[in-house]
Amino acid sequence: MNTSPSHHCPSCGKVQNPVLRYPWYICRDCLKLAEDYSGRRLKFANVSLFGGFSWRYADNEKSDYQICHGVICLIKGRNVMVSEAKFGGIVAEPVFNLAVYPSHWVERNTNLSKLPVPDNS
Ligand SMILES: [Zn+2]
Repeated sequence: MNTSPSHHCPSCGKVQNPVLRYPWYICRDCLKLAEDYSGRRLKFANVSLFGGFSWRYADNEKSDYQICHGVICLIKGRNVMVSEAKFGGIVAEPVFNLAVYPSHWVERNTNLSKLPVPDNS
């Protein structure tokens, strides 16, 4: 008996390979649509070959990637959390209830333009 569940991207419905660690993950095509709450498109990357998570605005290629644990943003108008995947890469998952996240975490990440700029001096 095949006990591995099938998986469809919850954003676009395309069939995906199931990943038990991320049972509701959003596909790579939809991840490219991630934007902040003012509609600015976001890009994500690992910090290094060893992982870590970072983001920047897609419309400003000269901007530095900002390192953090993850961001809550929007894909097709719905809340998603984008963060580092366990064994490398980036994973996006639906956020069904913002209340389960610590308030400072949500507040900090729902408006990315308010994120503090790192002091590089
Ligand atoms: Zn999708």
